[in-house]
Amino acid sequence: MPSSCIFCRIVDGVIDAYKVYEDGETMAFLDISPLSKGHTLVIPKAHVQQIESLSEEQLVALFKTVWKLTRYVQQATNTSASLIGINNGPESGQEIPHAHVHIVPRAKGDGGAPIHAAMHNRPIVSKEEMQRTAQNIRFAIKNGHLG
Ligand code: 5GP
Ligand code: ZN
Repeated sequence: MPSSCIFCRIVDGVIDAYKVYEDGETMAFLDISPLSKGHTLVIPKAHVQQIESLSEEQLVALFKTVWKLTRYVQQATNTSASLIGINNGPESGQEIPHAHVHIVPRAKGDGGAPIHAAMHNRPIVSKEEMQRTAQNIRFAIKNGHLG
């Protein structure tokens, strides 16, 4: 765990956070600069940048915590919906290089937008290209460790 990593330092208790949950593998705390009230970050305690670097056990623990907490984050903020997202890698806008899941409570009229608003220049993709892309992904899955 690099001592330069803010989230590792939160796990170690060196930096303060508004912690809401902790178990053996994961921790959850409020985002310091919330997109809405109750914006919560769920992190694995292990330092990895992207979710594909987590072990299956760590991944399951991470998403189990997301699953467990979502209803309570919503309950506590009087909401019944949330945007759940991951900026997975620097090109996606990830600023803190320690994997984390954002739970952002959402309400009608809150001025927010769906996840589709993240991409402004959508490509026009032909049926052939869709077919080819799906094939390439299937091929990569088959040849990868997860196939
Ligand atoms: P990313 O862009 O990496 O997906 O999101 C990083 C998030 O971490 C941002 O929403 C940012 O507000 C939050 N953040 C950055 N520094 C700190 C910090 O020191 N403490 C907490 N609690 N959140 C932080
Ligand atoms: Zn870290």
